[in-house]
Amino acid sequence: MTQRNNHPRKPWINRLARNNALLLVIVWTLLLGLFLQWNLNQARLQDEHARLQQCEAGQPWGSQSSAESAEAAPFSGLGTPWNLSLAYTTVWLAGLLVIGFFGSQIKNNYAEIEHYQLELEHLATHDPLTDFFNRNQMTALLEVEIARARRYRHNLGLLLLDIDHFKHINDQYGHQSGDIVLVTLAETLKKSVRTIDYVARYGGEEFLIIMPETRVEMALVSAERIRATVEESPVLLPDGKELHLTCSIGVSAYPTSGKDMDELLNAADKALYSAKNLGRNRVVYCR
Ligand code: GH3
Ligand code: MG
Ligand code: MG
Repeated sequence: MTQRNNHPRKPWINRLARNNALLLVIVWTLLLGLFLQWNLNQARLQDEHARLQQCEAGQPWGSQSSAESAEAAPFSGLGTPWNLSLAYTTVWLAGLLVIGFFGSQIKNNYAEIEHYQLELEHLATHDPLTDFFNRNQMTALLEVEIARARRYRHNLGLLLLDIDHFKHINDQYGHQSGDIVLVTLAETLKKSVRTIDYVARYGGEEFLIIMPETRVEMALVSAERIRATVEESPVLLPDGKELHLTCSIGVSAYPTSGKDMDELLNAADKALYSAKNLGRNRVVYCR
């Protein structure tokens, strides 16, 4: 049974935004570093120029002062070029730390956003009780599978399953026990279908199964097997009681029962209605 993960690929715009944010931090830090380096060079240049002038004025070597040039550049007041280099190195390291910190923050934020987006998508497409596809998602999948069958001239089987007298189970054992029955039936269905089939909780106690690449004869065999399995698998309630249930299944198939989604769903619904009228716990096919 396939609960296909039809998540669209992460939009490229997300990746671009993430990379851009990182790129922005890196470029601005590099620009700051370049500005500081330029400033340092300016200070050194003025310092050397002042020494040269003092030398030319006849002062002995080694007695030249760089005090005059200390104000040549905005940051040269920090002291000797060694001190300046130390200060700049510190700034560079701080910049790298800032990049690292914000980089990891941005990465975490995007991972969290992606996680919530996936969770939201799962909630929008799945039934919370059984974790099967919900009705909306199933009709979208059915459209795609019918289009595929039509395009490649393949077959497709559709099974609409409904628990018999479920209201009675709720009334007699309580709503919570009814939920346990639904979850247990979902597990049985999961085990009874192929990995390429889709199963959905189509309504309260109705399940829809799409069987791609399946001729009507095979769909009927599968439906009968599912019906028998449900009948032979009692549900164990928390108080130890065993609950026997049965189900009715309406079957339709592409292209024999219909050519589009509405026709196929109507045919399966009609077949299910007949199965109920004929006494329940049976499989009926609608041509
Ligand atoms: P039939 O054999 O004709 O299908 O009879 P039925 O009693 O199964 O059908 P009916 O439509 O009369 O009742 C369906 C019941 O399913 C009624 C509703 O309260 C119950 N139901 C729907 N959704 C849920 C659910 O999520 N949990 C539980 N416990 N019950 C639900
Ligand atoms: Mg029912
Ligand atoms: Mg029903």
